[in-house]
Amino acid sequence: MTTSEIPVLRCPLCKGSDFQQEVGRLDSRWGLTSHRMTLLICRSCRYILHFYDKNSIFDFD
Ligand SMILES: [Zn+2]
Repeated sequence: MTTSEIPVLRCPLCKGSDFQQEVGRLDSRWGLTSHRMTLLICRSCRYILHFYDKNSIFDFD
């Protein structure tokens, strides 16, 4: 994936582009699988964008 394919992420509320990233795990009820969950929190208005297993698209590491 080239950098040109990564969309510019904008907050849908305030159009800000400065986000705080939080990564968590969401375990299933049965304990067999777990999902990686990425939260992006707008630093301006605290709107939370959440992604499941989308680390390959929004990779900030
Ligand atoms: Zn915002």
